[in-house]
Amino acid sequence: MDTKRFETEVIHRGYHALQHHGSLSPPIFQTSTFVFDKAETGANRFAGEEDGYIYSRLSNPTVAMLEERIAIMENGEKGLAFGSGMAAVSAILLGLTKTGDHVLCSEGVYGCTFGLLQLMEEKYHITHDFHSMNDEESIRSAITDHTTVIYIESPINPTMKLVDLEMVASIAKEYGIPVVVDNTFSSPYLQRPLELGCEVVIHSATKYLCGHGDVVGGLAVGSKDLMSHLAMTTQKDIGGIMSPFDAWLLLRGIKTLPVRMDRHCENAKKIARLLKEHPAVEKVLFPGDSDFPQFELANKQMKNAGGLISFEIKGGKGEAQAFMNSLELIKIAVSLGDAETLIQHPATMTHAVVPEEKRKQMGINDRLLRISVGLEAWEDIWSDIERGLSRI
Ligand SMILES: *Cc1c(COP(=O)(O)O)cnc(C)c1O
Repeated sequence: MDTKRFETEVIHRGYHALQHHGSLSPPIFQTSTFVFDKAETGANRFAGEEDGYIYSRLSNPTVAMLEERIAIMENGEKGLAFGSGMAAVSAILLGLTKTGDHVLCSEGVYGCTFGLLQLMEEKYHITHDFHSMNDEESIRSAITDHTTVIYIESPINPTMKLVDLEMVASIAKEYGIPVVVDNTFSSPYLQRPLELGCEVVIHSATKYLCGHGDVVGGLAVGSKDLMSHLAMTTQKDIGGIMSPFDAWLLLRGIKTLPVRMDRHCENAKKIARLLKEHPAVEKVLFPGDSDFPQFELANKQMKNAGGLISFEIKGGKGEAQAFMNSLELIKIAVSLGDAETLIQHPATMTHAVVPEEKRKQMGINDRLLRISVGLEAWEDIWSDIERGLSRI
């Protein structure tokens, strides 16, 4: 199939109905293993001399449809599916490092990625540093002879700070270091790191790609060589693979990603503006706000600002919790990217494991809340927030 526009590819890529009895919806190949017509076929498949399925930890037709679809969405050569975002992160990071190596990370990373980096340091002497990645010279000076991966999240959770992906990728190229980007917050509809020169992109598919809060899954995309290597090593041998049913749910969710993202972004823009004007709100952190310090960078590397807003309310932890408890429509929950608007308190939830000192340094105080703006009517989301704010 010729490459079509993004909105078309998310619906059609990777599936050919007429090869499956004309079924409009793709079949779920709920099988662990595959039957060979004769012994030689099995031998040839194991030897890599013949294409075909062997066993579902190695590959599965429903999962393969999803892998083909995410690859085209990120404009990369090959996609891999995992049982969770963290299974993807660990397969990539462990696959690209060995004892003695160094990983250079953006200022903040997802909490469990932080935990994984600590484990890699303690058990395998693979060190890491966090870096603001604001200017070229300091990035160069943070790269050591042992740096084998640059690992970035942008926007960074929950402060929404951005990293200039094109700038970092061009420096990394000089040193021959691959740049890995966790693109969960933007989805490929808003940001495509591979097009900016990065090597690997990772998703917690649990979030926007799924969009309905009913799957935990991970995806990664990169070059055919690298991804095939990872498929035969850290994916196959650690074994954090995705189930066919979850792949099917993701194929379904992804069809509506562009329309959902448009609505998430539209709603978030309206809510961010209203929050900014409200007297009970101290500060709003949203890349789509023209006062956001990296507004220009957001416009340069993202199609739109996304559906996540962080904001500080006046007061402290008590006020933040009272506000959350007064909400009726908005649900108190971690995760993001669902149809439902979700709110969480980073200092006591997603970032509770980060020592207080470090948290403060990162700009995560007790008044900070993060909201994942859903697909409801923005007027209803806002009246819930406004009523809550009037109570504190
Ligand atoms: C949720 C999340 C992860 C982890 O994904 P799981 O699917 O929960 O394993 C990694 N990175 C980011 C940015 C996330 O939001």
